[in-house]
Amino acid sequence: MHHCRICDSETQNIFSFGRMPIANGFLEGPSDPEYFYPLSLVLCPRCCMVQLRSVPAPKLMFGRSYAFISSTSAAMQAHFKTQAEDILKLVKGKKDPFVVELGCNDGIMLKHLAGKGIRHLGIEPAANVARQAQKNGVTVLKSFFDPQTAAKIVRRYGKSDVICASNTLLSVENLNAALEGVKLLLNDNGVFFFEDPYLLDIVSLGSFDQIYDEHIYYFSGHSVANLARRHNFELVNMEHQDVHGGSMRYLLEWQPAPRNRAVSHWLAKEKRKHLSSRTGFRGFTKAIRTTAVSLKRTLKNLKKRRLQVVGYGATSKSTTLLNYSGIGPEHVEYITDNSPTKIGKFTPGMHIPVKDRKAFLADNPPYTLLFAWNHKREIFAKESRYRKQGGKFMTYFPKLKLHGLKGRGILNINNTKPTTMRAEIRRSGNHRTLKVAIHPRPKRPRFSAKAELKSSKRSL
Ligand SMILES: [Zn+2]
Repeated sequence: MHHCRICDSETQNIFSFGRMPIANGFLEGPSDPEYFYPLSLVLCPRCCMVQLRSVPAPKLMFGRSYAFISSTSAAMQAHFKTQAEDILKLVKGKKDPFVVELGCNDGIMLKHLAGKGIRHLGIEPAANVARQAQKNGVTVLKSFFDPQTAAKIVRRYGKSDVICASNTLLSVENLNAALEGVKLLLNDNGVFFFEDPYLLDIVSLGSFDQIYDEHIYYFSGHSVANLARRHNFELVNMEHQDVHGGSMRYLLEWQPAPRNRAVSHWLAKEKRKHLSSRTGFRGFTKAIRTTAVSLKRTLKNLKKRRLQVVGYGATSKSTTLLNYSGIGPEHVEYITDNSPTKIGKFTPGMHIPVKDRKAFLADNPPYTLLFAWNHKREIFAKESRYRKQGGKFMTYFPKLKLHGLKGRGILNINNTKPTTMRAEIRRSGNHRTLKVAIHPRPKRPRFSAKAELKSSKRSL
């Protein structure tokens, strides 16, 4: 029996993925010891919160080497610059406003406010990224956020006008305590907003790779509205964001507060999809199974045809996809990544080696599985040469798709038609070279009696 972390009601199972390793637990060697835990997604029928049934101890997830640096992506840079501009609009006209960000990462957003001389504070428990934020001119408090931390901030800086959090709350197991902290810290006219991957997008796209240990909660308008009310807040607006495969910004104000029309729009949409009951997840769980099976089958087919497949982006989310689908180094030779903390290591559970970009460019593999699919546009632009040379990227949500340039090689990966292999030995002087070519087997002409009759009639 499992109880909801928010309202303590008994939860219902949505999907069990089986044993999973820590998503960001990259290994120095393939025989290193690993920790596994059961990964299951559950729904609270009372407060609608979709969450993980069990979570490994935070110590196992966020070790000292944990280093997700937001600023490595240009798309994220642009997104957080816009977010900073939105905050400036929220505090416009306020005298000496104070902005607090929970989980400020490397200061990707707050640096813009710091540059404008806005009073701010970033709360960041990960030491390495907190240091980077300080280098970016951001004032940082190295801590987790709870009512005690909130009280400490109020004593030192006073109450805040805006509290925000991006891709942070989904990892905070004691969300009620975090909201109590917000209650202590936010002033009477303050706004609290947070952004996280949106449940409706995950379900519609079938992007089950978003489900892993660091993501404890999968928010929807319904669950956030209920959570807000528990802590005397009202969900006043919802703004959809085109990042992380579809995110939602939820704006909360003190009760009573009028709701923006966008809230009823999104709530109605969620209701139509039945996201507050298990029936709403039937298509999603079916899609999880279908994607896993068809992806593995396709990779096996490519392997049979002796075509090299590598991965792009050793992301945390690829851990769920690879482990649940049973895809290992026999299907994906290696994964290319630009993070120095991952290069030379092995992926959790399936032990696929991680190599740098040089290896990828030298190999020029015909097929590349794009694990960092949420950065597709940016990666396609960066690897335009690879694509022009005939290289093809493969994505898998909502279904398998090959992204090649027109007229360059076979685009149908699910071509399961039998192939013939022709080997030819070429001699030049003392050298012999073996050339192997793979051709689809020629189609046998098929005649049915009816067709034959028709054609003979025509010839008469
Ligand atoms: Zn609940």
